[in-house]
Amino acid sequence: MKGELKIYNSITKNKEIFSPINNESVGMYVCGPTVYNFVHLGNCRTFVFFDIVYRYLIHLGYKVRYVRNITDVGHLEDDTEDSEDKLLKKARLENLEPREIAQKYTYYFHMILLRLNTLPPNIEPTATGHIAEQIEMIEDIINDGFAYISNGSVYFDVVKYNEKYSYGKLSRRDIEKLIHNSRELKGQSEKKNSQDFALWKKASKNHIMRWKSPWGEGFPGWHIECSAMSKTYLGDSFDIHGGGMDLKFPHHDCEIAQSNIANRSEPGKYWMHTNMLTLNGDKMSKSKGNVLLPSDLFSGENSIFKKGFSPSAVKLFMLQAHYRSTLDISEEALEAAEKGYIKLMKALSVLDRLAPSEESTFDVKKWVDSCYEAINDDFNTSVLIANLFNLTKIINRLELKTESISKEDLTLLSEKIRVFIFEILGLEQSVSYEKDRLKEVLNILIEVRNNARKNRDWKLSDQIRDKLNDIGISLKDGENQTDFPEL
Ligand code: AMP
Ligand code: ZN
Repeated sequence: MKGELKIYNSITKNKEIFSPINNESVGMYVCGPTVYNFVHLGNCRTFVFFDIVYRYLIHLGYKVRYVRNITDVGHLEDDTEDSEDKLLKKARLENLEPREIAQKYTYYFHMILLRLNTLPPNIEPTATGHIAEQIEMIEDIINDGFAYISNGSVYFDVVKYNEKYSYGKLSRRDIEKLIHNSRELKGQSEKKNSQDFALWKKASKNHIMRWKSPWGEGFPGWHIECSAMSKTYLGDSFDIHGGGMDLKFPHHDCEIAQSNIANRSEPGKYWMHTNMLTLNGDKMSKSKGNVLLPSDLFSGENSIFKKGFSPSAVKLFMLQAHYRSTLDISEEALEAAEKGYIKLMKALSVLDRLAPSEESTFDVKKWVDSCYEAINDDFNTSVLIANLFNLTKIINRLELKTESISKEDLTLLSEKIRVFIFEILGLEQSVSYEKDRLKEVLNILIEVRNNARKNRDWKLSDQIRDKLNDIGISLKDGENQTDFPEL
């Protein structure tokens, strides 16, 4: 029933049957956030998607080690030598210690991902906690002759690497052309070539985040952090390496180059990249300043939209598009997702109340298979969710008794719909929907009790009041009516 998982591998540009290096266990590394600002909704799209990958691999029975790092140093403003570390710049602007900045935004990141009901990774290493491992890896690359020291910094020699390997093979950049065009820059820089990237940067006088190294005091480059942390926890080669599309170049191509030299192997077997969340067609990004904060979107305060949306509806909105397509956010799309979410919750509760018949008039197993087929087809959550919505129509017909379902099929359907909605998509049971239903039940009880009072059936009316009181719901009788109790 579960079928065979196929993953689109960004490096081969093909959908491939997923076959982990060590049959039963899976190692997955996802590039985490740079914690110099609030995580935005675009970032969340990427992390929500990899949560689905994690959840589904667990569902398939794999023992998964999911590593997602925190980039708390080394993310430079740009690639020039005197470029400033973004975290350090923010610390200066907010008048805080760099560690306070990292802590503040890591905390927000965790809070938001928890509200989005994503599972925490198994290991969440920080770049600052793995300086020794990074230094060791840089030394290996220097010893192999693919990096050089220049004015206290260390650079990866892209030209030399490209003679033996193919630099930029993931993003398929025309590196020869880039290298050729940038030759003229030679001599203007401490780098041999403008394509060379920093493994270690010398700290300037004012640079607070600095560590001792064989090349003097400095701090690591961004790319080496992920290579060192993935190697530490997942080994030289592991199964899945993920991140947003914008990380393909230079970040992931540089990781591949570093690992090829230091480990003599490719880091990830399957590279997965999520496409961008956009606002009015523009990529949502910190640098563009068009970001939506998830907390504002949930509360509806300070939001560009008129009201708030539940985290599950936001998630449903994100997952209704395939992860390799761009997705534009709008109030209408979020409203549709909120309605869709309530529709799913209602269908679930109708399903719970259905009485089975002798036989089924629709093929439940076929429906379940089609859901697995969708998710197995490179995590096509878009088709999976369309299948769920189709099912809500059938559930309506089951309620109206224009369709029927056998006991065995009802059990299977109730189990599998929950697997898809809660276990794999990670949506939450709607609290407000449950509350609405509780209100409906209470209204019925109040009506029954009012009738009892009219008929002077004090025994029944007292019984209802006392039993409700026992569970903390107190009814207050006015002259003509009973007030609706506080819940
Ligand atoms: P950052 O903190 O900028 O390094 O980003 C963390 C993760 O979010 C990376 O995997 C990025 O590729 C991803 N990301 C950034 N912007 C977007 C966006 N607009 N849509 C989807 N993913 C994004
Ligand atoms: Zn990374």
